[in-house]
Amino acid sequence: MKAFAYVNAANEKEAVAALASGGMDARTAGPDRKYLPLAGGMDLLARMKDYTHQPDVLVNVKNLDATIRQTPDGGLRIGSAVKLIDVIENDLIAKNYPAFHYAAAEVGTPQIRHIGTVGGNLNQRPRCWYFRNEEFNCLKKGGSRCFSVDGENQFHAIFGEGPCHIVHPSSLAVPSMAYGARFRVVGPNGERDVPADDYFVMPDRSLFSENVLAPDELLTHVILPAPRNLKSASYEVRFKPSHDWPIAMATAVLTMNGATVQAARVVLGAVAPIPWRAPAAEAARAGRQMTEAVATAAAEAALKGAKPMSGNAYKVQVAKTAVKRALLQAAGIRTV
Ligand SMILES: Cc1cc2nc3c(=O)[nH]c(=O)nc-3n(C[C@H](O)[C@H](O)[C@H](O)COP(=O)(O)OP(=O)(O)OC[C@H]3O[C@@H](n4cnc5c(N)ncnc54)[C@H](O)[C@@H]3O)c2cc1C
Ligand code: SF4
Repeated sequence: MKAFAYVNAANEKEAVAALASGGMDARTAGPDRKYLPLAGGMDLLARMKDYTHQPDVLVNVKNLDATIRQTPDGGLRIGSAVKLIDVIENDLIAKNYPAFHYAAAEVGTPQIRHIGTVGGNLNQRPRCWYFRNEEFNCLKKGGSRCFSVDGENQFHAIFGEGPCHIVHPSSLAVPSMAYGARFRVVGPNGERDVPADDYFVMPDRSLFSENVLAPDELLTHVILPAPRNLKSASYEVRFKPSHDWPIAMATAVLTMNGATVQAARVVLGAVAPIPWRAPAAEAARAGRQMTEAVATAAAEAALKGAKPMSGNAYKVQVAKTAVKRALLQAAGIRTV
């Protein structure tokens, strides 16, 4: 690993100041960022050990807010330094946001959940094996081609037009978007609130990062809206039961009137460079009772525009299953 300087920021203000102190070096949005926030380090340190990223300065952000608090309107404000294990052990999240709880509980292994933070999870970089291998200077690293197009793409995207075909790696991103969360972002010029819907960006808009954060900005909080009377569930499909990322996942958040679905939000994960809203699936169910047939039709609608690559057509069916089961489980119908 290349030598680096370490800034042990005591709080949010110091962390932002440390990032901003790099001037243009810290603000460079290219593939070779010199100043990077360090949370649990599981993603970032692995990339540094693999020589795919070689920052000069790491800024500790584990001293940012690590609390989970109710907001005045009954929502929940989760600090970016909260560890995944603390998400899982929080009673309010388990009761009111089961899809978020499930997504955190399914991440990796117990060791990973004890170290990984909410901020690190949402901002972790893609798992594409070409991106993670120093031998491949692909588009996302400033090179001239995407190796997945003619290469090994069995875990890559089935939605999106490229030019990069990653799937977004964060499991928490999917329920965050489905619940309509907002993300608080701070930088040298103050703070801003970004809806989760607008936080993640497609590669044709931003090739070198997967979200709207400027290089000298930090994600400090995830704010979940008041739960009202929503019913929700996430469902993930994996090759391995643990120590891996899902090959497809879905979150369904339903507004129910008795057995009738009044409104719905459906978001798919691990199928596109960003968490993927499925408006056709949402419309397919509004005003109807949830049954297996309705959930199947919604899952078909959700995957209608999928364009698999040469090696990942299997993901279409897997994603349909995830959507169908998330919908049924959100409506309280047992699936397995
Ligand atoms: C075997 C294995 C299986 C896994 N399975 C899953 C899974 O199923 N689902 C899933 O979602 N994840 C999974 N993970 C990923 C794991 O959850 C993340 O690596 C972890 O959450 C990253 O958190 P961290 O705190 O260690 O982040 P770090 O490695 O410290 O940071 C990750 C990235 O985010 C940036 N960053 C960190 N905090 C902030 C912040 N506050 N603001 C802006 N940028 C920030 C860093 O600069 C870095 O680029 C798995 C990891 C492993 C090793
Ligand atoms: S999918 Fe993206 S990260 Fe992977 S090789 Fe192609 S350009 Fe690089």
